[in-house]
Amino acid sequence: MPVLGQSLAGVSVLRLDRLGGAAPGNKAFKLRYILARAQAQGLRRVLSFGGAWSNHLHALAAVGAELGLETIGVVRGGETPTAMLDDAQGWGMQLLPVSREDYRRRHDVAYQRELAQMHGPCLVIPEGGASAEGVLGCREIAALPGVDDPRWRRVVVAVGTGTTLAGLAAGLSRVGEVVGVAAIRGGDDLAPRVREALAAIAAQAGVPWHIEHGFHCGGFARADAQLRAFIPAFEHATGVPLEPVYTGKLLLAIHAQLAAGHWSPGDEILAIHSGGLQGRRGYAWLDPWP
Ligand SMILES: *Cc1c(COP(=O)(O)O)cnc(C)c1O
Repeated sequence: MPVLGQSLAGVSVLRLDRLGGAAPGNKAFKLRYILARAQAQGLRRVLSFGGAWSNHLHALAAVGAELGLETIGVVRGGETPTAMLDDAQGWGMQLLPVSREDYRRRHDVAYQRELAQMHGPCLVIPEGGASAEGVLGCREIAALPGVDDPRWRRVVVAVGTGTTLAGLAAGLSRVGEVVGVAAIRGGDDLAPRVREALAAIAAQAGVPWHIEHGFHCGGFARADAQLRAFIPAFEHATGVPLEPVYTGKLLLAIHAQLAAGHWSPGDEILAIHSGGLQGRRGYAWLDPWP
């Protein structure tokens, strides 16, 4: 069925949102090896960072509980309760709300050491799970059945930190190209970050890749009128649920590239549904979480 007048007949969706139990989507892949490292180092506790709707903290709390690890979430500006924070706490995550000023120091090694001293011994995981281990985990998405298939002219994925894109670029060798859709405004440093992520695992991209910057819809976690019209129309036509932060922008970008004639309707496209549906609960203009 067309979406807003545009056929998506050549578009297939890899439903990572249906894989991974309590931690669906790409975050379980990103966390796999870093949590294995914590266990190998004999650490029983991990600490990481995120906003009050963070998919990363949500997944960390879920997987940590499964593995019997204690989890600590440093939450940006977070006094306001959200369904995400409720879930995380329900899985046993200890929440540490910090001011926006403190949160800005999350990449600062001295601040991380301070947190580790106060709450350790623990392994500090970077925001979003961005790490060499994260790239290695995401490379395994490329090894899932049917993904590295020459029928795909393009494999398309949403980009936050670029870790997932780097893992895909490292793991794919038979598809035409990998296209990232930036979920943030002004993501000039995203391509360099992808190159650094590839270097961190001493890998090279097996296929060409690039990032599209025209579909952030106002910025990270923002939604403009176009996205608000697109998501319900897409869901209604396909039965595939989306959320506004990442996967809504991903499918909007594919739809727009086809509608503009930049991509040919004859090209087969694989869109990676990277999950994130828990965060949909934060948007009152969407129907309740399916
Ligand atoms: C975190 C996230 C992304 C972005 O992944 P990166 O590896 O940071 O680029 C994409 N989609 C969803 C649903 C996410 O939660």
